[in-house]
Amino acid sequence: MVQIDRMLLDDIGGNPVKIVAEILRQNSGISLPIPLEEIAKAAGIVSIEYRALDGCEGMLVTDENKREGIIAVRERPVEGRMRFTLGHELGHFLNPWHKKPGGEFLCSTDDLKKTGDKQRDDNFRMESEANTFAAEILIPRQELAKDLRRLKGADMDHIVTLSKRYNTSKEMMARRYIDFQDDTAAIIFSRNGRIIYVHKHQYFPGLCVWSDNPVPPGSLTSQYKGDEGTSSNWAEHPADTWLSSTRYESVHEQVLRQQDGFMMTLLTLGDKKDEEEESLVKSWGKKF
Ligand SMILES: [Zn+2]
Repeated sequence: MVQIDRMLLDDIGGNPVKIVAEILRQNSGISLPIPLEEIAKAAGIVSIEYRALDGCEGMLVTDENKREGIIAVRERPVEGRMRFTLGHELGHFLNPWHKKPGGEFLCSTDDLKKTGDKQRDDNFRMESEANTFAAEILIPRQELAKDLRRLKGADMDHIVTLSKRYNTSKEMMARRYIDFQDDTAAIIFSRNGRIIYVHKHQYFPGLCVWSDNPVPPGSLTSQYKGDEGTSSNWAEHPADTWLSSTRYESVHEQVLRQQDGFMMTLLTLGDKKDEEEESLVKSWGKKF
């Protein structure tokens, strides 16, 4: 049974990663998928409703001291998406620094995409922190690290399997998978042949694609006709199919077709070019 000691939790401060770490420390035997509703109720959420919400994705109403609260989640066909919204609202509730007039948090679809906090206003920072909380609690980093050590090497099928194990959307698992994967990789989300956005590992080199532009014509993504829900085999392409960097011989690409024209593309790096050859190319470049 989940138990939350709010006194200890409130001493942690406002860092969402540390708040989640304390929740998991207090519930060390917790099993996967994370029982998010149980955690919310143990923390003081007295009611969770799933219903049609007009103009927002999630809502939290709480008293001034945040001892109790109610959460409403917009009903969506994908359970993982509703779990993320619930995690986001719980992130506001358990963060002592998150305050709104009347204790009412109304969070839009855009709010649930906000990341990073540098040079942004307080509202942006709160939304971003609530998203970090949701990602951390649904896919705890220590658990994911254990799974990644077991699975070894980037592969789309791992993302699909892990999204079921943690009961999250594939998109969210893909982002987390990239962040914690040893094998430097990137994931591209596209729909009907146009890039939506890219999420890459911090050491993955620059790409030569942009949001709202077509996927590269030579790529597997541009021509893949496989079944929905089935991962492709890996394909190897010249690096400049996807990369702006000239330091690699090639790039490896794997695709997953999803519903409604959505595609996920996983990229990993081929061999690095011989540095001597690279510097020779550079010096020639200077001469001519
Ligand atoms: Zn919010």
